[in-house]
Amino acid sequence: MQFFAPPVERLIEEFAKLPGIGQKTAQRLAFYIMNQPKETAESFAKALLDAKSNVYTCKICQNLTDSEICPICKNANRDRSVICVVTDPKDVIAFERTREFRGLYHVLHGTISPLNGIGPDDIRIKELLKRVADENEDVKEVIIATNPDTEGEATAMYLSRILKPFGIKITRLAYGMPVGGHLEYVDEVTLMRALEGRREI
Ligand SMILES: [Zn+2]
Repeated sequence: MQFFAPPVERLIEEFAKLPGIGQKTAQRLAFYIMNQPKETAESFAKALLDAKSNVYTCKICQNLTDSEICPICKNANRDRSVICVVTDPKDVIAFERTREFRGLYHVLHGTISPLNGIGPDDIRIKELLKRVADENEDVKEVIIATNPDTEGEATAMYLSRILKPFGIKITRLAYGMPVGGHLEYVDEVTLMRALEGRREI
């Protein structure tokens, strides 16, 4: 049974495909658009298409950018000997906000996830190896900053294994136990990391 005119149904369907948008929210968004002047819908549609057709991945770090090489890779003041490997472009923004990191990044665009059929060749690992192998780049350290969850850990382990032969420093972000967290409720990966990072007091 159809509740809405077919074009509205289609719009709802498209909204419902977006992450975190359920059927109800999709309906609300669709009706919001229907209530706006035509120009609003046109500029929305244009923004979608422009973003898709004018954004590329940086040739060096694979981050999203509107030019061949992103502003971070272009910046002569960054320390090119250190590469911080992250899962998503969002993570680059998170690191940049801290203003602590002065090296370069490498965006994997995903994590290794055998359950979802995502292997090493499906994310940007080859590109990372090429950078590390390139003598002109003179990479001395790779910081693996994938998330401290099962897939992030599996990816980190894989990376450290294939990076070992290059003889560079490979580091992993240290993750602590959540403040006020009970040991029994912490997942094993977090616990393992917390244990590995233990210090003498
Ligand atoms: Zn870049």
